[in-house]
Amino acid sequence: MSITVHQFPCLSDNYGYLVRDEATGLAACIDTPDAKAILDQLETLGWTLALILNTHWHADHAGGNEAVKAATGCEIVGPAEVERLSPVDRKVSGGDSVTLGETVFQVIESGGHTLQHVAFYSAADHTAFVGDTLFALGCGRMFEGTARQMWDSLQRLAALPDDTKVYCAHEYTASNARFALSVDRDAGLKARTDEIFHKRSRDEWTVPTTIGIEKATNPFLRAPHLRPDLVPHEAFAALRAAKDNFKG
Ligand code: ZN
Ligand code: FE
Repeated sequence: MSITVHQFPCLSDNYGYLVRDEATGLAACIDTPDAKAILDQLETLGWTLALILNTHWHADHAGGNEAVKAATGCEIVGPAEVERLSPVDRKVSGGDSVTLGETVFQVIESGGHTLQHVAFYSAADHTAFVGDTLFALGCGRMFEGTARQMWDSLQRLAALPDDTKVYCAHEYTASNARFALSVDRDAGLKARTDEIFHKRSRDEWTVPTTIGIEKATNPFLRAPHLRPDLVPHEAFAALRAAKDNFKG
């Protein structure tokens, strides 16, 4: 049992993801940032789209749903909030699972950026698609949820095995790195940011990351360590507020 992940940049800083279950050849796309880009990639790869897996309702994640479904006849799976943008064939929330051929994705509740945001995790493939919850060296803004909710969501992701590949929905890493360096002097972080700036100067991708790397260097996951004067979710809230106001 295994999947192949095809990653491609689209819009200004999104990543599109197509996932193929190798046992059956069925494919899913994680979110629909750009319908035309997704359909072009499917045609180039020769993959058959069975599912759209939406992480949350924002237009850069679900805005292409209807066009992709019209072109492929695929099923749309996502949290109920996606119905703000398009019909959803199967509504899911934390604790559900979704199958793509022989691949099973666990649905992990990850609200905070939006209230019903979810992540999709294949334990067999050590792979998680986390939308706008956890980013390389960053995390999503809290547009709808509370700091407590976002912190709890990040802790659910941080509890996945260290070798889990984390596919985030945006290439925000260089900006996240500048903020991280402003709040954390850790040597491991410095080494990682050097590598990130080097990669971005050559237009290389910094995604996927892993849970282990993020636990070691992401300032939002390290919040209790960086602000030991506060309880964990308040330490997180303080860092998130600092990032919201960071001009770097
Ligand atoms: Zn979003
Ligand atoms: Fe987004």
